[in-house]
Amino acid sequence: MREMDREAILAAVEAAGVVGAGGAGFPTHVKLKTACDVLIVNGAECEPLLHVDKELLHHRLPVVLEGIAAAREAVEAKRVYLAVKGKYDALLRKIKRHVASRPWLELVPLPDIYPIGDEHILVYEVLGRRVPPRGIPLQVGAVVLNVETLYNIAKALDREYVTYTYVTVNGAVAQPGTWSVPIGTPIEEVVAAAQPLLEPGSWAVVSGGPMMGEVVDDLSQPATKTTKGLIVLPRDHVVVTRLSAEQALLRWAYSVCCQCTMCTDLCPRHLLGHPLWPHRLMRTLAAGGPVDPEIAQGALLCSECGVCDQYACFMGLSPRRVNQMLKVKLGSNQGAAEFSLSEEIRPGYTYGQVPAERLVVHLKLAEWNQPAPLKGTLPAGTRVTIPLKQHVGAPAQCHVEVGDEVEPGTLLASMAEGKLGAPVHSSIAGTVTTIADGKVVIERGGIDE
Ligand code: SF4
Ligand code: SF4
Repeated sequence: MREMDREAILAAVEAAGVVGAGGAGFPTHVKLKTACDVLIVNGAECEPLLHVDKELLHHRLPVVLEGIAAAREAVEAKRVYLAVKGKYDALLRKIKRHVASRPWLELVPLPDIYPIGDEHILVYEVLGRRVPPRGIPLQVGAVVLNVETLYNIAKALDREYVTYTYVTVNGAVAQPGTWSVPIGTPIEEVVAAAQPLLEPGSWAVVSGGPMMGEVVDDLSQPATKTTKGLIVLPRDHVVVTRLSAEQALLRWAYSVCCQCTMCTDLCPRHLLGHPLWPHRLMRTLAAGGPVDPEIAQGALLCSECGVCDQYACFMGLSPRRVNQMLKVKLGSNQGAAEFSLSEEIRPGYTYGQVPAERLVVHLKLAEWNQPAPLKGTLPAGTRVTIPLKQHVGAPAQCHVEVGDEVEPGTLLASMAEGKLGAPVHSSIAGTVTTIADGKVVIERGGIDE
């Protein structure tokens, strides 16, 4: 690792606009500011059909290891655990060769279960420590960073800004693969690289994985720093219909929850001991009456992993959607409740775990469950649309104007003093043609005179 002290690492990571690539986009420089005992590298990537972390570890391991060393230096961790699914034999062998020269680094093979990548589950599996409900790993002495985030940290040390994101395109495509994609590229262009197999109009794209993802209504939407997977599926595929909010809510409206409790029995957060009982939420809503505030607050503990609706509920109901609705409703009261863990982990924790292979079959994804090897960099198109908010926090403040010429890496927007967030940079050379709705549009060829 190059010689950089802690302050220099933090400054480089902040300037590069690094955010958590595997989740909601929490600004990484903020995460790295707090000292902790343990750094956990999250290489679990438990959503079916996604392969970004595995491909990066296979093909960019020295860079990822450099990012790990820098992050360790920043948080002053004594131990680093690199957590990867145990089923990837060749990858584990490759990583082991590098672990030998790093006594502070330990490889942790993970079971192939869903949602092992959820920070609460991961911290328990790696350290045996339970993060409190609504808490963060730091409360039990850990910081968790995903593989691509660490890759971006290493790049930041070389003053390379986050202008590309790694994306797996999989599903009903002829050329499944993982590409490095210029941020702001329309999703339709990214998907086209993998060559969809189905007739135009008969397929849909799920962004973010079949369990926690969203159906993309508008394929001109851009890939952002947190775009990780684009899954092409027939429009009437069970995953697409279940992820559609309208469909889920309609089913909820017209169906009756039989209170079988399967959603609770298999809920990973419930099994960890969080006071979350999805079937109770469904009961109160199905009864039509006002939701008991105490029960409603339980929705705040939901990770939206999708086990309840995509796997557990045989009636196709969606406690997850109900929780999402309740979270919106609770809004500013979100800090009101205090939650405590059960004394012990619940007895069903182990047998309630969902094997990833069974999940793929259950979701009718077996025929689309293909490797997605790293294919290199997707050539930049003629136009990118770059959101000013690709992270947790406030939008970045725009520094450019319509008509400005920009280069790859030009700073488009940065954070106001004291605001949580990360700067945003241009991914292509071109002219700023539009600034509207919190997005900067850059086009090659520029504005017509
Ligand atoms: S929502 Fe589904 S899984 Fe949960 S209790 Fe009702 S019927 Fe059972
Ligand atoms: S989505 Fe369902 S299974 Fe997952 S944490 Fe929320 S209630 Fe539990």
